[in-house]
Formats: sequence, structure tokens, C-alpha cells
Amino acid sequence: MGKNDLLKEVTEKYRCYINPGLQKLLSFAGLGVEVRAEGCTIYDSEGKEYLDCLGGYGVFSVGHRHPKVIEAAKQALDTMPLSGKAFFSKPVADLAEKLAEITPGNLSYSFFCNSGTEAVEGALKAARAFAGREKIISTIGGYHGKTMGSLSATGREKYKKPFEPLLPEFSFVPFGDSDALEKEIDEHTAAIILEPIQGEAGIHVPPPDYLKKVREICNRKGILLILDEVQTGFGRTGIMFAMEHSGIAPDLATFAKAMGGGVVPCGAFMGTPEVWEKFFGENPLIHTSTFGGNPLAANCALATIEVIQSEGLCEKAATLGDSMKRSLEKVRESHPDLIAEVRGKGLMIGVEFKMDDVAEIVIAQMVKRGVVVAYTLNNPRVIRFEPPLVITEKQVERACEVFAEAVKETSSLLTTVLEE
Ligand code: PMP
Repeated sequence: MGKNDLLKEVTEKYRCYINPGLQKLLSFAGLGVEVRAEGCTIYDSEGKEYLDCLGGYGVFSVGHRHPKVIEAAKQALDTMPLSGKAFFSKPVADLAEKLAEITPGNLSYSFFCNSGTEAVEGALKAARAFAGREKIISTIGGYHGKTMGSLSATGREKYKKPFEPLLPEFSFVPFGDSDALEKEIDEHTAAIILEPIQGEAGIHVPPPDYLKKVREICNRKGILLILDEVQTGFGRTGIMFAMEHSGIAPDLATFAKAMGGGVVPCGAFMGTPEVWEKFFGENPLIHTSTFGGNPLAANCALATIEVIQSEGLCEKAATLGDSMKRSLEKVRESHPDLIAEVRGKGLMIGVEFKMDDVAEIVIAQMVKRGVVVAYTLNNPRVIRFEPPLVITEKQVERACEVFAEAVKETSSLLTTVLEE
């Protein structure tokens, strides 16, 4: 079969058997069929190399197929990849201990699952069970997943409207505004859920004292703080967990994405002993998952944490993130008519365009030049740069050069269209 035939065959199957709209979206961006990946590079079936600056939406923090994570996976594959669930499992126990060690505050207990949305579902249940109250406050633009519970906490109408009524008693306040949060709390409030840095909303870093104030308000009002670190966790923002930038700890936290080292799906929510006692105290089986907490994922997560620590990936994300942001800022200065802002922390960077649909064209121009990026789900005007944290300085430079070329090309395309 010719190389082009494979692309034709696969896109046709996406169109007929998966999702015709998604097929159009991927084809518009000019993306081919991925066949292999390593480090920061993805190879397609036509032999083209791509520098991955999307990182699987935050999954590939240690790069694609990191040898230590692959080794950990193989070890589990050779012995027992999935848990019998009726037995104790050492890798699962070791991972829970390690997470308790590396997370701030009193987050001692872990429940393991397979995705971000599952982690959020569990945390929401735990919060309601603990408080005996039903109201959950979330933030406008916040993203917590697309299953019914997490979707109820997600702050974008477009994704929610077709499925209403969703869970009752969810309300939304502006992100970064602690006064608005305080006003929204009443005697029915169980918890507030938010991301330490909003990802899908378009990469928004809150004011420096925001999380501290939120923590203080939660303490004073007697409600729980749930921090969603699904995207920010495991080194992405230049520190192991983004909450550490503000020196506070939540009552519940959620994790996924990078946790499985880009090799297997792995997620978790963690809580304090007080929360756990109320949630699981009477019935240890009140919340369960067949696949959650398996040796394969646990082994990979342990290896991932080891790699992040031993290769200094948090520090790398901080320094390379700073230089990447500076280079992207220079592109903004050359195109102030198109680009509104460059923002972010570590290697979680967003570039916001001033008009709709420009980001899509820039993305396609970048893909054409061999660099993969995407827009943020709750704000399509923002291109996200979330490369593997193992990216080199040279690769960062190349990504920024390609971005500059793509913006320049888009600018002249737009000028031509407007003149016609
Ligand atoms: N929370 C946050 C902060 C996220 O960024 C995401 C995914 N973008 C989710 C939850 C949902 O994760 P998943 O897609 O694995 O369900």
C-alpha cells in the first residue's frame, strides 16, 4: 500500500466509523497518520517528522516513550499488568505512598482511576459526602471534563447546553476573583473546584495571592477546596504541582494526563484523612473502579515521578518556559494587530489572538512546517504550547521560529483576503 493510500484509508474510516466532523478538523490542520514517537518527535506514515509542542494536551511531560517508563511498563507486562482487585498490590501501595510524600499539605490518601474526568467525578462525590451539602462552586471558563458530573463543573455553555439538565446546584464565579467566590458561598455550599492555572480556558494565571485568599475563605466558611491539577500537575508549570507556587494545599486534588508517563492512562484524586474518613469510613466500597489502581499504571506513574525528579524536569520547565515565553512575546510585538497576549507559567503557555478563526490558520501553518500545537478547548482564540518537558533549547527556538513564520504567513493571507 502506498503512503498516501494509508492516509486516505484511515481518514475514510474516521469519517465513516468514528466522527466525520473530527476527521474534517484533523484534515484541515493537515495532520497525517501517526506511526511512531520518541522524545519530542512524532513521525507520520508519510515519513514526516513533527516537533510536538502540544504534548498530547499535557500527557507527554516526560516525552514520548521515555525508556524508564517503558521499562516499568514492561516489568508489569511480564508479571501482572492488571490488578486482580481481590488482592493487595505492591506497586499501587508504593504509588499511593509516593504521592502522599510529594504532594503538599495533608493529602494522604489516593483513589486511582484512568482519566481526568473520573478523578473529578470522584472528588465531587467525596466533597458532597464530606460536607453533607450539595452546592459546588466552579469558575467561569474552567475545564474539568466531559462526563455528566465534571461537565456540570465545566464553565463553557457550548459543551453543556445539549445535555441539560446537568447536576443541580453548580454555580460559577470569575476565576481570579476571591471576593466573588466569598459572596457566592452560602449554608448549602460543599466545595469550590478550580484549576491553579486555568488550562482550557486559555491558559490563565491568577493573581499571585488568589489561591491563598481562596484557601483562607474556604477555612473561614467551612467549605472544601478542590484543586484540579489534571493539566498542571507533574512538573508542567515549573514545579511538581502548580498549587506549590502559592504555598497552599487543598482538601481534595485531582490528577491525570502526565501521570502515566505518556505510556498508559492513569489518574487519581487525593484527599485528607478527614475527607477520606467521611467518604469511605462507613463503606469502603462506596466508590470503586474495575481498572483504576492497576500495577501497569502504578509502575509507570512511579517511574514518571522518578524521571521528573532525577532529570530536573520541573526546573527545566521553568527556565525553558521563560525563554519560550520571551520569544513568543517578541512575535506578539511584531504583530500587535493579530496577537493580544502571551501568558502562562513553565511550559504551559498560551498565545491569544485578537480575532476568531486566526488560531486555526496559524495552527495549520505550523503543522505544515512540522510543529504540532492546538487551541484551548474553552477558548479557540488561544494556541497552547505544552511541549514535553524534555524539550531542548534548540527545539524551543525552532518552535518559536516556526510560530513567527506561521503568524507572518497568516497575516499576509488575511491581508490578501481582506483586499479581495
Ligand atoms: N481537568 C482539567 C484541568 C483538564 O485540563 C482536563 C482535560 N483537558 C480534564 C480535567 C479532563 O481530563 P480527561 O480528558 O482525561 O477526562
